[in-house]
Amino acid sequence: MIIDCHQHLPRLIEGKTLARSKEELLGELKKNKVDYAILIPDNTPVSEIGNLDEVLGLVEHDTNLFVMGTINIQRDKESHMRKLDHLFQTRRIVGVKIFPGHDTIYPTDKRLVPVYELCMKYDLPLVVHPGAGSKKPNPTKYNDPKHIVKVAKRFPTLKIVIAHYFWPKVEYCYELTKPHANIYFDTSALADDEVVEETGLDNIRKILTLTVEHRPKNVMFGTDYSMCDIKKHIALIESLAIKREMKEMIFSRNSKRLFKLHLL
Ligand SMILES: [Zn+2]
Repeated sequence: MIIDCHQHLPRLIEGKTLARSKEELLGELKKNKVDYAILIPDNTPVSEIGNLDEVLGLVEHDTNLFVMGTINIQRDKESHMRKLDHLFQTRRIVGVKIFPGHDTIYPTDKRLVPVYELCMKYDLPLVVHPGAGSKKPNPTKYNDPKHIVKVAKRFPTLKIVIAHYFWPKVEYCYELTKPHANIYFDTSALADDEVVEETGLDNIRKILTLTVEHRPKNVMFGTDYSMCDIKKHIALIESLAIKREMKEMIFSRNSKRLFKLHLL
């Protein structure tokens, strides 16, 4: 079984509708034998990949698609927090993603504390987007794992998923986060051509293998589709010199447990 815990709808370009985007995504899942996916909406009201309300409405009747909550604490107010609480309660979101680097906020920003408390209340993860992959200048200033580690230390029961492993500095990210059992990783973007070129395939394989050996429950399969290719990410996990059982944990079991997915 494969669960992709990090996907986005294909971009709305040239008059494409959200419904068409979803069809395209479902076709990709089928083609790559991905059984379930978690869709991450944007945290801006108007977006090429859909906002939270749009994505929630779109997948209402799809039992193989889950949704991640998103928030922009520089813009969203109290009412958005109440909305996320309700969505958690009714199991319509499986975690919350924040975007330091896209947004000019640090994970240690005190305005984020209510978001962390909400995740802890439902024992569902916070996903953080780090890495140099943004076009804005110097996003790593905000999303360096050194800030994430401070949050992990302050809230030991908060489960934090680092997406993209802070490429190209995967080794740095591994070393820094190693002491924190509440830090998890998804593999999204790690098989992307640009990421492989800048980080080195051997380096990516080495760090993923070390992470899995050190903490087998803390690595989840994610792709960053439609920005990245699903097939290449499956091939990356298959290429790791680890036991089949560990690959199965990465591909599905860890996500199922962490995001408390109700699989039909
Ligand atoms: Zn993403």
